[in-house]
Amino acid sequence: MIRVRIAPSPTGLFHIGTARTALYNYLFAKHNKGVFVYRVEDTDKERSTKAYEDNITSGMFKMGLAPDEGIGLDEKGKFGPYRQSERTEIYKKYLKELVENDKAYYCFCTKERLDKMREEQTAKKLAPRYDGTCADLDPKESAKRVAAGEKAVIRIRVPKSEDVVFEDLIRGKTTVNSRELDDFVIAKSLEEPLYNFTVVIDDHTMEISHVIRGEDHISNTPKQILIYRAFGWSVPEFAHLPLILNEDKSKLSKRKNKVSVDDYLAEGYLPEALLNFLALVGWSSPDGKETLSLDDMIKNFTLDRVHKGGAVFDLKKLEWVNGEYIKKMIADDIDAFYKRVKPLVEGKLPATEEKMIKRMIQDPDFSGRFKRLSEIPEALMPFFQPIPDYANELIMLPKFNITPEVLKNVLTKAKEALESVDWGKGDSSKAPMLSEKMTGMVAELGLKNGQVLWPIRVALSGLEKSPNFSTLMVYLGKEESLKRLDFALSKIK
Ligand code: GLU
Repeated sequence: MIRVRIAPSPTGLFHIGTARTALYNYLFAKHNKGVFVYRVEDTDKERSTKAYEDNITSGMFKMGLAPDEGIGLDEKGKFGPYRQSERTEIYKKYLKELVENDKAYYCFCTKERLDKMREEQTAKKLAPRYDGTCADLDPKESAKRVAAGEKAVIRIRVPKSEDVVFEDLIRGKTTVNSRELDDFVIAKSLEEPLYNFTVVIDDHTMEISHVIRGEDHISNTPKQILIYRAFGWSVPEFAHLPLILNEDKSKLSKRKNKVSVDDYLAEGYLPEALLNFLALVGWSSPDGKETLSLDDMIKNFTLDRVHKGGAVFDLKKLEWVNGEYIKKMIADDIDAFYKRVKPLVEGKLPATEEKMIKRMIQDPDFSGRFKRLSEIPEALMPFFQPIPDYANELIMLPKFNITPEVLKNVLTKAKEALESVDWGKGDSSKAPMLSEKMTGMVAELGLKNGQVLWPIRVALSGLEKSPNFSTLMVYLGKEESLKRLDFALSKIK
């Protein structure tokens, strides 16, 4: 049975890298008809919070990455508890077992002694490692000292020279000799086990078959394998995912990119598009397709197609993928799409204009431009508000060389042309006719495109960026369009 897991530490908001790891685990589970487990590694009591855990859990569900087993489900599953803070007794039992079998031992060395030891090693250009002072203490004596209340950490006995080999399913064969490791600490006390230990206990007792996680954990893997060996347990398969990088190839960081999933959702990235994009950060589909439904991803996902190198987080690509999803959703079902946009437009666009708003959204001149849902109210608001006052430099953009005379001429002609025709507000079939009327004026007046079409666009929108002028005319309607041309004329000095 294939069983995989996501095991985030709730020390921050649901991170985009965690979302990708969750997605790859999810896809691998579904592709192999396996089970996707969600558990929480909250052993770091100082940094873990329930609020972060809740944010991660709700984020997983929002993204469509519901687990089959674990936290967030009513029926959690039979391998629980799934929160490390509730598993202390389990860890304690296994820690005792290791100590009793002399696979691990109590270490009483003080911080001062260890610091001094490390300093000396560094001065001799040696890699800092534990010198084994407590390794040969009589276990019975040590147990007594601990029972009497003396403080002691627990170290695992690492074999002197033993190859630890694992075949990473993405990176291939990895070998580390145990002489490069020291007797590392697996618990600060029987009640305070540390990550490398707890993760092994969890993966073993939850019967995890494949550990798929970020490359930042690769140096932990040999240590974890040594813990499996100490218990005589079989070792799961490992697959380490490439790190996600900023565009300058540095590790994905808050300073250069947003890193929390909520930030992306709030900006109007669709969960489906975000998933699609994240799937491609470090993996590619065998058919080369870049827009993939979740079913496509499940069908095509194999670990041998995960890249070894760092995976760049390309925001432009995310925008493109999101734009494609927006277009498709608008074309498929405008009512369903509008439901998702509604919370974003409420208070910004008049509720009474829902029909017109939907019509505008469906117009390819709008639908083809949206990269994020949040752009929708921004793009439509100008149609439902009085024209903002704008500077003369905007309508007479210097690069087009528009004099007040030219402007007056253009606006007057445009008004005459529009007065001679009729169109119903929102009737996009009239756009080509309106467009022809305006472009016809360019030759007629012996001017350049920019000298005619730019001021008309600014007169209609008051904005630097706006849809094209025929779209503006269609959705403003005849009366409002003429009013705005008049306003522009009145501003000429
Ligand atoms: N808690 C670890 C993290 O959030 C994951 C450990 C693992 O997957 O083994 O990075």
